[in-house]
Amino acid sequence: MEEVKRKVYCSYCKGERYHRYIERYDVSESEDSVNYWSTYGIIRCLGCKTFAFLRITGDSETWDFDDDGEIYLIENYAVYPEPPQDGKKYYGIRIPRDFTSVPKPLLEVYQQVLGAFNSQFHFLCAIGLRSVVEALCVNTEITDGYIFDENGNVVVDNDGKIIRTKNLKGKINGLIERELITKRQAIILHDIRNMGNKAVHEIQVPKIRVLLEAIEIIEHVFHTIYELGNYEISPKSVD
Ligand SMILES: [Zn+2]
Repeated sequence: MEEVKRKVYCSYCKGERYHRYIERYDVSESEDSVNYWSTYGIIRCLGCKTFAFLRITGDSETWDFDDDGEIYLIENYAVYPEPPQDGKKYYGIRIPRDFTSVPKPLLEVYQQVLGAFNSQFHFLCAIGLRSVVEALCVNTEITDGYIFDENGNVVVDNDGKIIRTKNLKGKINGLIERELITKRQAIILHDIRNMGNKAVHEIQVPKIRVLLEAIEIIEHVFHTIYELGNYEISPKSVD
């Protein structure tokens, strides 16, 4: 199909690029002798082949003169993913990983978290990440766990009995107990839990970098718990 008349932002090249239409739909209507039109298109970058969505709108009353004194119509181009706003670093679109063995409900929450991130709803992304940790515990049937003091020792009661708690803090430690994650991974899951709590209770929006790191860790934990068993070379196959 034809090329888009002017360069638009490409989220992968991170700059203005020429694109080609993959699919295009034109709409027009008129009211009180003014014509309005819109073009909706799925477009593809001619450089990196990344897809984007384009909407062009215009009307017969919005025009200007060009350098040669000729009238030209001013059309409004909106592309999604959107170009970064001034001064903000653009982190692009984070494509969800293709997990094959992560249970569906968990995958759904994870995909929604990435959707929130990609739409730059960072606040919702932070809350969602905490929910992923919660959902992970539900799915692995972890209902409680011990707690650590600031020196990393398990907290015990006056009789020396290990204290167990049913909140998310305890459950994350329950994941270590079941040997589903390492202590280091648990520390990061605790950070994600704290980040979600701060978002909810103190309306604090985390930095994009932090969110990206949290997403990476979640993906890593998913891989460890659900995907590792899919490899041909796995402990199961070694006698
Ligand atoms: Zn591109």
